[in-house]
Amino acid sequence: KSKARHKGDVLFFDDSINARVLYDFTLEEQLRLALENNELSVVYQPQIDVLSGRIHGIEALCRWHNKELSHVSPIDFIAVAENIGMIHDIGWFVIKQACSDFKTLTASVPLPISLSINLSPKQLLQTNFAENITNEIRSSGIDTHNVTLEITENVLISDIIGVSPILEELRKRGFKLSLDDFGTGYSSLSYLSNLPINEIKIDRSFIDKLLTSRESESLVKAIIAIGQSCNMQIVAEGVETQEQYKRLSQYHCDIVQGYYFDKPLSINELSQKYMAIDKTSAQP
Ligand code: C2E
Ligand code: MG
Ligand code: MG
Ligand code: MG
Repeated sequence: KSKARHKGDVLFFDDSINARVLYDFTLEEQLRLALENNELSVVYQPQIDVLSGRIHGIEALCRWHNKELSHVSPIDFIAVAENIGMIHDIGWFVIKQACSDFKTLTASVPLPISLSINLSPKQLLQTNFAENITNEIRSSGIDTHNVTLEITENVLISDIIGVSPILEELRKRGFKLSLDDFGTGYSSLSYLSNLPINEIKIDRSFIDKLLTSRESESLVKAIIAIGQSCNMQIVAEGVETQEQYKRLSQYHCDIVQGYYFDKPLSINELSQKYMAIDKTSAQP
C-alpha cells in the first residue's frame, strides 16, 4: 500500500521499500559505469605474524566511491556485480591493480610478504580461470607462491563439486588457498580435510565475542586446534583490541588482522608505514 504522489514529472513513493528499489536501481546503473569512470580503487589491510610481530602479508579490498552514492560497501556492490555480470571486469581490475601495487611495494623493500585477493565463486567458475590468473600474476613479475586466494566458506560448500577441481588446479599452479569467514557456514570437518586449503580465516563475529562469550571462545580454540592438526595457517580477522590480540596469541593463533593494527590503507600509506624502514615492527 505505497502512496505515490506526483511532483512535477517525478513519481515519489513514501514507502521505504520503493526507496530501496530506487537505490538498488541507481546502484546497478552506476556500477556499470564505475570502471570506465575510474571510481574503483583497491586498499590493503596488513596481516601480522603473531610470533614475530611483523607484517606477514596484505589483503586487497576493493573500494567504490561514486559522486551520487558516495562510498558503497563492497558487501553491497560485490553482490550486485555478481548479479549483473560485472564481477568479472571488477575482479580482473582488482587482480591487476593489486599485482601492480604489490610489485611496486616489494621492489622498494624486498620483504617476504604475501598478497591475499578475495574471489567470488563466479570468477572461479569462469572458463580457464586458473590459467588466466596464473598468466596475469606471472606477467606482473609475481610468484604465485606469494599469492593467497580467499574464498568464503559458504560459497565453497554451496558448490563444492564445481569448485574443488578448480581449487586443485590453483594449488598445482602454486597459489595458496584461504577459507574466508570461517565458522559462519556449515562445512563439516571431513569436507575440510579433503580440500586443498592452506589457511582458515576465523570470522570476525567470533573475534568480536571472544572475551564475552564462552561459546565463541571455545569455537576459536577449536578452530586453531584443527588448523594445527591439519597443518593450516590460522588467521583471526577483525581484531580490534589488545585484549583480543593477547588472547589469540595465548591460543597460538598464527596471524592477526584488524583495526587494532591497521585499517585498510592506500598503497602509499602502506609503503610509508611498513616499507620505509626494513626493521619496522608491525606492533602498534
Ligand atoms: P572479508 O574478505 O572478510 O574482509 C574483511 C572485512 O572486514 C573488510 O571489509 C575489512 O575492512 C573489515 N575489517 C577488517 N578489520 C576489521 C576490524 O577490526 N573491525 C571491523 N569491524 N571490520 C574490519 P570490507 O573492505 O568492507 O569488505 C567486506 C567484504 O567484501 C569482504 O569481506 C569481502 O568478502 C568482500 N570484498 C571486498 N573486496 C573484494 C574484492 O575485491 N572481491 C570480492 N570478490 N570480494 C571483495
Ligand atoms: Mg577476505
Ligand atoms: Mg573475511
Ligand atoms: Mg568477514
